[in-house]
Amino acid sequence: MNVGFVGLGRMGMHMARNLVQSGHRVTVYDVRPEAVEVLVELGAVAAVELASVTAGAEFVFTSLPGPSEVTSVWLGDDGLLAHLETGALGIDLSTVGPDTAIAIGEEARSREVRFVDAPVSGGVGGAEAGTLSMMVGGSEDDFVDALPVLSAIGDSQKIYRCGDVGAGSITKLVNNLISMTNNVVIAEAFSMGVKAGVDAQTLMDVVSVSSGNSTTLSQWRNSVLKRDFSPGFMLALGHKDARLAIELAEQLGVPMPVTSVAKDRLAAALDEGWGAEAASVIARLQERDAGVVIEGDSNQ
Ligand code: NAD
Repeated sequence: MNVGFVGLGRMGMHMARNLVQSGHRVTVYDVRPEAVEVLVELGAVAAVELASVTAGAEFVFTSLPGPSEVTSVWLGDDGLLAHLETGALGIDLSTVGPDTAIAIGEEARSREVRFVDAPVSGGVGGAEAGTLSMMVGGSEDDFVDALPVLSAIGDSQKIYRCGDVGAGSITKLVNNLISMTNNVVIAEAFSMGVKAGVDAQTLMDVVSVSSGNSTTLSQWRNSVLKRDFSPGFMLALGHKDARLAIELAEQLGVPMPVTSVAKDRLAAALDEGWGAEAASVIARLQERDAGVVIEGDSNQ
């Protein structure tokens, strides 16, 4: 298949590489030329400008930071929808609100091109291994047509059609508000446990095989406990996702008291200048307030 790919960041670089390695002809674009160079070395073709990724492409993917980048790349005057060939299928892998996905879907329909939102979960490790879960919003026909290329990026057992355009983004926000609030709760729980006298490694070893276990907790083993806050999933993106979830809940009249507190904690960590660190860096706020350090055994 001829595939275009825009946004070669922590997730996109691996997803584009997996498409290349699955035998697709992949044309790539990023505002960072150095990111394009890496993919060209792996067999992709460099696009000279954004619109060039659409030339001859049956599928065009984007993996971008958030709603403003996704909106300008798809809906801008010289954006992807202005150039996508009739019958081509656009696939946005970014995490955005459903309003963004629906606006692009409606504009795509008016231009006789197709669009699905397909946010992903599983982190950089899942992107690298091609084992992401994927949450797709779009028509049944578009979903079926997209499956062969989606399977190069995600685990085919974990690719779900959630409903029409926008439903993938709703599902992703549900997932991420759970993981982001979980970060805040783990910080509170571990700071209490450590201050009360049980070391953080023991807490990790026991809770991770008990009912408090979660994917977020498992990420803490190699980040907070090892004092390594390199992302992975950046705090700034986690804050964006909590904000998008609260905006959606407000539109629907759904109260979100816990997520609101979590978003405020994420915002406070952003104010510290930690936006480009792993989302678990919010532990450092709690450590400061509680007067403890949540540090593991360096041999674990
Ligand atoms: P990132 O910031 O590492 O990558 C974004 C890329 O988009 C960068 O390479 C940047 O140069 C490029 N870009 C920005 N604006 C652009 C534009 N106008 N045109 C072309 N390229 C542009 O982010 P990431 O961690 O790879 O995440 C990408 C998306 O996936 C986000 O929406 C994020 O919420 C979501 N996501 C991330 C993870 C994760 O663990 N990192 C997991 C699941 C979902």
